[in-house]
Amino acid sequence: QRGTTRNGVADKIPASDLPQPVKIQQVRYTKIFINNEWHTSASGRTFPTRNPATGDTICEVQEADKEDVDKAVAAAKAAMQLDSAWRKMEPPRRGRLLHKLADLVERDRKLLATLETLDTGKPFLQAFFTDLEGSIKTLHYYGGWADKIHGKSVPVDETYLCLTRHEPIGICGAIIPWNFPLLMLMWKLAPALSCGNTVVIKPAEQTPLTALHIGSLIKEAGFPPGVVNIIPGFGSTAGAAIASHEGIDKVAFTGSTEVGQLIKEAAAKSNLKRVTLELGGKNPCIVFADCDLQMAVEEIQKGAFYNQGQCCTAASRVFVQDRIYEEFVRRSIENAKKIVIGDPLDPQTTHGPQIDQQQFEKIIGLIESGKKEGAKLEYGGGAVGEKSLFIHPTIFSEVKDSMRIAKEEIFGPVLCIFSFKSKQEVIERANNSQYGLVSAVFTTSMDRALSVSGALETGTVWINCYNAMHVQTPFGGYKMSGNGRELGEYALAEYSEVKTVTFKMNDSM
Ligand code: NAD
Repeated sequence: QRGTTRNGVADKIPASDLPQPVKIQQVRYTKIFINNEWHTSASGRTFPTRNPATGDTICEVQEADKEDVDKAVAAAKAAMQLDSAWRKMEPPRRGRLLHKLADLVERDRKLLATLETLDTGKPFLQAFFTDLEGSIKTLHYYGGWADKIHGKSVPVDETYLCLTRHEPIGICGAIIPWNFPLLMLMWKLAPALSCGNTVVIKPAEQTPLTALHIGSLIKEAGFPPGVVNIIPGFGSTAGAAIASHEGIDKVAFTGSTEVGQLIKEAAAKSNLKRVTLELGGKNPCIVFADCDLQMAVEEIQKGAFYNQGQCCTAASRVFVQDRIYEEFVRRSIENAKKIVIGDPLDPQTTHGPQIDQQQFEKIIGLIESGKKEGAKLEYGGGAVGEKSLFIHPTIFSEVKDSMRIAKEEIFGPVLCIFSFKSKQEVIERANNSQYGLVSAVFTTSMDRALSVSGALETGTVWINCYNAMHVQTPFGGYKMSGNGRELGEYALAEYSEVKTVTFKMNDSM
């Protein structure tokens, strides 16, 4: 069942069996979570978090800044001491705590999906089936790793016995974006805990609510105090305090490339803390004439418009071979008509508002630049109504590589279609970007798929699919799309130090 109104999410579930959002009278967790306790901010300040679909304030949240970060780091440090409950905990028990947390997230799944929808504007079913499903899987996956993380014995010569030990790095900061608030948190929290670290997490100021609910579940699951600390606040204050904190040993960040650069700089200037960065993308899709055309149209469109285009993986540069170009554009317009714009809590809705006014204006500005620079507007092209943050899914054809919409990350629902002639030409154009996060190739030729995937400079290549993310496989970028990898076994290395222990053997044969 392809191309249904639910945008590929929950397509096969009968409408009567679909989960329903929970009615939330009052948000329960709005304070700073340190040492398994709830705190007001040191400054006494709060900030509002808003529903982007209505503009209404959902609630006020305590605003953490440097002083609160210091308290969280002190708690995380105490929890990391050699004689602490956490350091002495057997790895299988750490794993069980992660599985327990996964079960509690499952128990509160509808509530968490509703909070995520209210805070981000993403359709409820997408929050339920993608963000929550992915979060639960991530916790179980790294719960399973906790007692399988170990070093090696390394043969050198007969006078020495050499061992490697994989140890936690220490206190890990995590700075989270607003597009997948809960899922991006789990991608950092789960491997960090699996490896035995303690964490200080800063959710994005636009979307703190699901992270704070997780604080309550951390306590309920039985994690010792100080192992997980959650500090809602702004980037330039709380976020910057994490990046430059001398007591933090590693920082993991997902967000814009500009802020990623600031974080790396602050990390270098403070204590050279380890840094992993998951940044922007300008992701090329290559559609060869021999592909399954309808499938390519639908997959790419999901990639372009999913989460209102607010994905680092958004399919933003679609190169279509000249022979099928016109048909691809025609079918893309037809397919876009199935998108349902509306109240994100309504199960029929597949397209919600953008996150905030700043993002809205940036996207509208880029759409206008596309029109001015001569791209052909095929569909959408502006705001839905007045005074709202909704933007029509937009399709441009005849896009040229030199245009702004071809070069800048739009982070909105804009699909840009280019035409190409040869394989050689398209590989060069696809790689002509500062970014290198993901790419996709659509073809029925296995040989071509393999040769092109080898030539593309991106951390992930999808063949005949899009946004096919799996917790078992690593995710991350080449070039300015980031440093390091999240997910899979590879992420464990990003949350571990390796120690060599060498014994002198005085009794050799
Ligand atoms: P951002 O990079 O400013 O924010 C992401 C996170 O970083 C938030 O938690 C924020 O509070 C924090 N932050 C901001 N400034 C900081 C600083 N100086 N030090 C430490 N932390 C800081 O992203 P944004 O402004 O919300 O969005 C801008 C653009 O970023 C978007 O248009 C999009 O291109 C990109 N973005 C990418 C992703 C992604 O998944 N890769 C996610 C969100 C935004």
